[in-house]
Amino acid sequence: MRDAGSYSFELFPPRNDKSALGLRRAVKSLATLGPQFFSVTFGAGGSARSGTYETVMNVHRITGVEVAPHLSCLGATRANVAAALDAYIAAGVRHIVALRGDLPAGQREAGAFRYAADLVAFIREHSGDHFRIEVAAYPEYHPQALHPDADIDNLRRKLEAGASGAMTQYFYNADAYFRFVESCRARGIDASIVPGIMPITNYAQLARFSDACGAEIPRWIRMRLENLQNDRDALVAFGIDVVTGLCERLLDNGAPGLHFYTLNRAAPTATIWRNLGLSDRSTPERANAR
Ligand code: FAD
Repeated sequence: MRDAGSYSFELFPPRNDKSALGLRRAVKSLATLGPQFFSVTFGAGGSARSGTYETVMNVHRITGVEVAPHLSCLGATRANVAAALDAYIAAGVRHIVALRGDLPAGQREAGAFRYAADLVAFIREHSGDHFRIEVAAYPEYHPQALHPDADIDNLRRKLEAGASGAMTQYFYNADAYFRFVESCRARGIDASIVPGIMPITNYAQLARFSDACGAEIPRWIRMRLENLQNDRDALVAFGIDVVTGLCERLLDNGAPGLHFYTLNRAAPTATIWRNLGLSDRSTPERANAR
């Protein structure tokens, strides 16, 4: 049985009635696995920013599990962000994921906040200690980072501004994560850094995401996936095998939990979860770990 830790499932707001139905089924199934919390993205990949609040409320109502909204700040005003925070406080939300986000194509004005650290500072200024705040970290470094150490210094600034912990961009190279955590510790960062896990089910989609966010698909995985593109079952089985192995290595070597990018699908995450024996974690043990 694995040690208790922070286990969370990321969702995105559904785009239509059909995907809302799919999300409802997925969260019911994912909730049975006993995650600590769900999180819901906000305008990720240039998508509309509406829908996060409603999805947070719906998922909490359906599952009873804590749900953390993501909030990004590029292009936002202080008044927009204050209004969003007030709405979440009124709804009883206590946990938030604070991000810079990316400017939609064609938009050039950053708005009131330039970096996620500015958003974290504003959340603390506006809401005190009401929220637990997670921020993003990048084991393979953010594509706009001027230097690896500058990216780590940025993580430290976000934590010094008041963030509680970090969740990472996904990666398939466990050594990148371990080295990153080691470098963070050497630079005085002691917050928990939970690895982000992207199950593999679709090669074209994964290649597109990875090009956009700077996550590397190692050549041996890329070549296998290219080769299996026309055999979905074999590709999914290979993906489950690779990602289960990655998670095992991470947990066996001290990762403080896992944050799954579920893409609103239950099956891949649930299979990896069961492979890892995470269902055996007892509820009291999890409660003690909070
Ligand atoms: P920041 O921490 O502000 O860093 C952005 C870049 O600026 C980095 O390269 C950093 O090194 C650099 N930088 C920071 N401060 C300085 C400084 N003072 N001087 C010079 N350079 C600096 N996006 C969404 O739109 N919606 C979501 O819901 C969402 N969820 C995410 C969840 C997770 C777990 C992760 C890992 C990412 C998520 N993203 C989301 C993507 C994220 O918004 C992008 O990766 C974005 O490009 C950077 O956001 P950040 O919060 O890491 O930015």
